Amino acid sequence: MPRRKDRIKSTGERLRDLFWGPQLLAFLPALCLGAYWLVGEGGLIACALGLPLLWAIFGGFETDRSDFTEERGTVNPGPEKIESGIETLVHAAKPGEKFAVFAIAIDDASDLLKRLSGPDLAEITDRLKLRYLSGLRSSDVVIQRDSLSWIIAIHPGPNLDLEATIQQASRLQTIVDEPLFLGNDRLYLSSCIGFTIALHKETGAKVLIEQAEAALSDAILNGPDAIRAYAPQTDLKKPPLANLTKLDGEIETSLHAWFQPQTSTDTGQITGFEALARWQSTDGTWLPPGTFLPVLESAGQMERLTELMLSQSLRALSKWDEAELNIDTVGVNFAEADLANPRIYDKIAWDLDRFNIAPHRLCVEVLESVVAGDANDIIVRNVAKLASLGCQIDLDDFGTGHASISTLRRLPVSRLKIDRSFVAKADLDSEQQKMVGTILMMADRLGLSCLAEGVETLGEHTILAQLGCRYVQGFGIAKPMPLEQTVVWSRNYQGKLDIPPEIGRKSR
Ligand code: C2E
Ligand code: CA
Ligand code: CA
Repeated sequence: MPRRKDRIKSTGERLRDLFWGPQLLAFLPALCLGAYWLVGEGGLIACALGLPLLWAIFGGFETDRSDFTEERGTVNPGPEKIESGIETLVHAAKPGEKFAVFAIAIDDASDLLKRLSGPDLAEITDRLKLRYLSGLRSSDVVIQRDSLSWIIAIHPGPNLDLEATIQQASRLQTIVDEPLFLGNDRLYLSSCIGFTIALHKETGAKVLIEQAEAALSDAILNGPDAIRAYAPQTDLKKPPLANLTKLDGEIETSLHAWFQPQTSTDTGQITGFEALARWQSTDGTWLPPGTFLPVLESAGQMERLTELMLSQSLRALSKWDEAELNIDTVGVNFAEADLANPRIYDKIAWDLDRFNIAPHRLCVEVLESVVAGDANDIIVRNVAKLASLGCQIDLDDFGTGHASISTLRRLPVSRLKIDRSFVAKADLDSEQQKMVGTILMMADRLGLSCLAEGVETLGEHTILAQLGCRYVQGFGIAKPMPLEQTVVWSRNYQGKLDIPPEIGRKSR
């Protein structure tokens, strides 16, 4: 059946569209004045109150609602509905006009889906939807694909070129960047966007969505917070990253440890690296863990992943020692399944011995959520045994897992890794600053040191140092990198530290 918007409008309909709307209320002062002239004060009052009331009764204020619910903000609409939403715009375009389709994914979605309760997730989704809807025109299409991803199509226009569309994409990112308040908590999110631009009726809605999604996959690979445009060479046949169910390549050859530096706020020196898993597909593409960990998890391969990550990390320490880089530790992430394995202690002790690495140089990263509450007894025992072997225990994503103070005292934790959600904008947002300050104070009282994760800006780095956080890690220092790059990066970094500060020369 043809849709209301697909038809070409008659002149009568165009005139009605022009005047019938909230704009009609612009005539209200003239009508009131006329009524006052003709009938007097009674007429004025009746006109001023009665007309808006009649307008409301006949639904004048609701003219846009059908668009709002039917196309602009449909939730989980299914592929046909998404396509028909975009098709509306394809038909609305006049010859020569262009329009853009954006595919948006909130960064770290798999993490957020695990971490947030159902009602919190629904709240976030609703708020984002309202923000998108109020930030765009009523003729644009906003479709929520699932709780943390969206398809948005922008109404056609003659001047929609690449530059304007990139600007539009960064405006869509800004809409997400504003903090979200969940009770007393505030959440800073970011998003990746892929987009495609099409000419009037040149391409069907289905292909446009595929193009935008392929560009989104590219953005996610370069994320977080990345924007990519569809180009003819973008591979449309690959499944969008968000829907990955199978990995190409074998775990032994495709899994690689990348390393992100951690530095001291006292001395500026590199104190360690965290090992982060990356998957190299057979075509050479590097996948981030958010896309492949769920696939490995459902294939029961997580313990194999940890074994490989551990041996690559210990080998990395030997390489840094050979290069005389003076790097103290490497951090390895352990999943709940690893820590619940009664043989984990023997495996780690054997590997440390095999690579001849002192146990204190391995930081065992344990998620706060894994040891919070009624942690499995085996996990608590394993963590305690690893600590007694001499390994350092880093409590990862601290602040999100609700560990009690008694848990912190019960477990031999060496360091808290303050989650990125508390660090974001800590220099600009006094509430964030208070949270970080409170965690640091508590850690100090408990005799624990702290590392702040996700430090992106100089401002964040500075405030963390001022608040007394001893270690930092984040894109502001460096992104995770392959082992081969770590030696050159470390030498460059240390070289810059060794340059004495320039003392201002007097001008002659
Ligand atoms: P994580 O352990 O909290 O690791 C830190 C994540 O934050 C990494 O993402 C890192 O790239 C990212 N990151 C670091 N600095 C910044 C920053 O300044 N800004 C932003 N926006 N992000 C930053 P990545 O590598 O995508 O890893 C995501 C998560 O996947 C990790 O979070 C960890 O939970 C899991 N993961 C990664 N490698 C492994 C592994 O070998 N084993 C296990 N079990 N989990 C792993
Ligand atoms: Ca970690
Ligand atoms: Ca973390």
